[in-house]
Amino acid sequence: MTVFDYTNVSSSAFQLRCTACGDVHNIQAKHRTCSCGKVLFVDYDLEKAKETLDLGSIQSRHRYNIWRMAEIMPVFEEKHRYSLGEGWTPIVNLKNIGDKLDLQHLYIKDESFNPTGSFKSRGLCAAVSRAVELGINEFVIPTAGNAGAALAAYAAKTNSNAHIYMPEDTPPFIVTEIKALGADAHLVKGLITDAGRIAKEQGAANNWFDVSTLKEPYRAEGKKTMGLELAEQFNWILPDAIIYPTGGGTGIIGMWKAFDELEELGLIDGKRPKMISIQSSTCAPIVRAFKEGKDYAEFWENAETIAAGLRVPSAIADYLILNTIRESKGTALAVDDLTIKIAMTQLAKEEGIMLSAEGAATIAALELLLSNGDIQTDEKIVAFGTGSGLTTPEAW
Ligand SMILES: *Cc1c(COP(=O)(O)O)cnc(C)c1O
Ligand SMILES: [Zn+2]
Repeated sequence: MTVFDYTNVSSSAFQLRCTACGDVHNIQAKHRTCSCGKVLFVDYDLEKAKETLDLGSIQSRHRYNIWRMAEIMPVFEEKHRYSLGEGWTPIVNLKNIGDKLDLQHLYIKDESFNPTGSFKSRGLCAAVSRAVELGINEFVIPTAGNAGAALAAYAAKTNSNAHIYMPEDTPPFIVTEIKALGADAHLVKGLITDAGRIAKEQGAANNWFDVSTLKEPYRAEGKKTMGLELAEQFNWILPDAIIYPTGGGTGIIGMWKAFDELEELGLIDGKRPKMISIQSSTCAPIVRAFKEGKDYAEFWENAETIAAGLRVPSAIADYLILNTIRESKGTALAVDDLTIKIAMTQLAKEEGIMLSAEGAATIAALELLLSNGDIQTDEKIVAFGTGSGLTTPEAW
């Protein structure tokens, strides 16, 4: 088999498009959100991508990271496709837990294998790589922990600077990690929303590029690779249901975008998984908006949960998350912290997989999803284990 040569492949990205008002923007500009304030997506010329991106060429590719399908990723030059080995995480059959619940095809995509222990590395790898290609090398981010660690790692890799703002109660282990990776780390009184406010002020004052969730178009492209991989790992037939712990929603909307692009490329058919969004019962703005039939989610007061990545009281992409859930005929469900902790223990002791609270929340939701009739025992179900148990040490 001939090995596919990536060095000639460029990206087929050609414009940024607003997901709300439809305005298009120049892809070579340092855009963050649209002038209307909403989320920008990257548009690809998929006819052009098809010239090199087909089944045969994919199968010959030896690169197993987020740049595997470089044609539909947003970086143009090979030298800016930075990597620490993110992506291509295993899909593991949860036989023991599946048997107990009578679920015949239960899997977890174990994202704890990623650099810095969570899937945040996918998004920050794409965002930092593209920003560096655009000549940016000063970054700022507010974080509950994982996004900061991932930014710090890719900033180190690209000789850039990362300025990181996180709540005082961020696990000390992650604060240590962020400092060890060479970032400029700041602890902030209050919640992630307070960290967000200070990051925004400091970013504007110092001309640092803000890579907050979905406030620039490229983190979603990195998260999109979870969907690309899922299709390839399951031999181009998507599962019946995806269960995803939702905070800012980058992953759920990124995967949904991936499926559309794969279908247009002729790599999958029109069948889509039900996208099932899981939140914590003490911070569940998306679940509430879904149940109430709303297009936007209201701010969740007094958000508090051990699943720090889900402690997002207000998401800029709420309308996209809700759309995805509805279009896919999925659902949204909240689970409480105690049920999450039980699922963490069960995954560790019965499956040998030590997941973060957010990741385990997907498993915590299974019983309720079954009894509500949202999933069936013979369906192929993939839960996303978004982070390593070591990223939520306080939960054990
Ligand atoms: C950030 C985070 C989430 C939420 O991810 P989104 O794609 O922004 O919804 C879930 N799990 C972990 C471990 C996280 O760090
Ligand atoms: Zn717009």
